[in-house]
Amino acid sequence: MSEFNHLTYDHEQGGSQTISSRLNLGVSRTAKNVGSKTDVGYVREHNEDSLLVRPPLFAVCDGMGGHKAGEVASDIAVRVLAARAPRETDAKGLKLAVEEANVSIIHAVHEGEGREGMGTTCTAAILEDERLTIAQVGDSRAYLLHAGALQQITRDHSLVADLVDSGEITPQEAYNHPWRSYITRALGLDPRVEPDMYELNIHSGDRLMLCSDGLYSMVRDDKIADILSRTPDPQKAADRLVKAALDAGGADNITVIVVDATVISERKMKKVTRKAKLTAGIIITALVAILLAAAIGFNVLVSNSAYLGEVDGRVAIYQGIPGDIAGMSFSRLDEVSDVNLDDIQPGTARRIRSEDIRCDSIQDARNLVNGYRQDTGNQHPAADADNTDSEADNTAARSDAPDVDTEEGGDV
Ligand code: MN
Repeated sequence: MSEFNHLTYDHEQGGSQTISSRLNLGVSRTAKNVGSKTDVGYVREHNEDSLLVRPPLFAVCDGMGGHKAGEVASDIAVRVLAARAPRETDAKGLKLAVEEANVSIIHAVHEGEGREGMGTTCTAAILEDERLTIAQVGDSRAYLLHAGALQQITRDHSLVADLVDSGEITPQEAYNHPWRSYITRALGLDPRVEPDMYELNIHSGDRLMLCSDGLYSMVRDDKIADILSRTPDPQKAADRLVKAALDAGGADNITVIVVDATVISERKMKKVTRKAKLTAGIIITALVAILLAAAIGFNVLVSNSAYLGEVDGRVAIYQGIPGDIAGMSFSRLDEVSDVNLDDIQPGTARRIRSEDIRCDSIQDARNLVNGYRQDTGNQHPAADADNTDSEADNTAARSDAPDVDTEEGGDV
């Protein structure tokens, strides 16, 4: 296995522009939603594939030319892309960067770097939010796994792809066709080469996979789909895809990048969750405020209410309101007077028994009871000085219209 051309972007470096294609670190720290792997395979002496993992930019380049020249070509391609490609889904910018990579490889040959005839495929993608832009030259591929189904996004620039398209061979025959390794477009050979551009909207949960032909020539699409959909971790998915190609013979260099389009979705989900939490918080606060206001209001009502009732045949004064609400009582016994219900007017006594006489305060209730006492001729001392003072007035009022008084009380 070679990681010579394994170019990764390390987030810990805070966006450093330093590029090294000799990052042979073994474990590369990249975003959690990205997995990548490249392997020389069992047959080739060198790994001429290069890959670029620099979110939101990803690329797989499969070099050719022999005597390590393929490595040089694919390495130049990823370096130029890393330096020149836009950091957003700008198709025009990505296309220009790929064209610049092409010119750089041609220029390198003129400068004596690599070999005449060296070239490389280039499948470069920018995945940002729900937008995916791809530039395509050669036969490395981009696939999209959507809702468990694998779609090949890119169209190969190869002889067998042309033969399949023209109906001369079946897709199955393409796998073993003697011309299968001939590509019809590459970077480094023609200064006027143009990449095919693909722009599409993807959904949260979709998975982008870029690979060199070392994967898809060894592993059928249904098997690739199976591994991608059964392996949630993108790095494990990349590892398993490479392993599947090796298990199938590893006849070529194998390079895989798996990117889950979950970053933005997660961010959105977090936003939604935050919003929901905030809303719940506001609702709870409002409910607590309403309950508190109700409790305070109720407390005020209870402490400003009194009514008359019966205890052992005598008139009793209660603080609060009669009856109960949801099984709870909101009254307490204040005092039991010495006035017998049997001694007062039957209509008033009936209303007292049914707790129908209410007052604004304990004091009002006491005044009423004092009035009854005087009506009955009881000469017991009044409960307080106020009542004694107004005894004469009360007597006059009670003697002729006790029911008027009680009705007044009842309206409160
Ligand atoms: Mn290859």
